[in-house]
Amino acid sequence: MLIETSTPVAGNAPGAPGRARAGAPAVAPPARPPAPVLSSGARSLLLNASMEPLCIVSLRRAVLLVMSGKATVLETDGRLLHSEHAAVPLPVVLCLTRYVHVPVRRPVPPTRRTVLQRDSHRCAYCGGGADTVDHVHPRSRGGRHEWTNVVAACVRCNHRKADRLLHEIGWELPFAPRAPRWSVSFGTAAARSDPLWAAYVPA
Ligand SMILES: [Zn+2]
Repeated sequence: MLIETSTPVAGNAPGAPGRARAGAPAVAPPARPPAPVLSSGARSLLLNASMEPLCIVSLRRAVLLVMSGKATVLETDGRLLHSEHAAVPLPVVLCLTRYVHVPVRRPVPPTRRTVLQRDSHRCAYCGGGADTVDHVHPRSRGGRHEWTNVVAACVRCNHRKADRLLHEIGWELPFAPRAPRWSVSFGTAAARSDPLWAAYVPA
């Protein structure tokens, strides 16, 4: 049986954001936490040995991978999981010890959500917070709805640009838009999950 406790481990500052799932203690659990507490909703980010995000696994599976030597813990939220014979840092991000080949993932369609996610919710034109998607080459003028023609934009810039081409108004893009490398399901889950995942998920 795996039992979760709140013993801090090295490498995590006290007060770091915990996995604040419903029913699970986040940062400051009681002195005598009830056990066992492997909450069913907890998930871990599993990386391939190449450090590329592979998939999201249950916390239980993550712990088993670590305890069987198939994966190592890269990020933990400071809690320990105790088995009968060992204590394992609760894996928030873990990495396979051996590379596994994965087939090519389906391409991600450019939607408002995925475009904003790719561009980190930053307006491509002014750098401010973005809520909308702009077609760099306006659709009304033959622009296509594809990754290389869409950028995140704030409402103000989107409105100012309207259906004009960038050279017509003297604007430039600070980057060449391209398709992201992550998959739909991965991007979706990662977007609403642990902030400790962020450093391992390609933007
Ligand atoms: Zn803007």
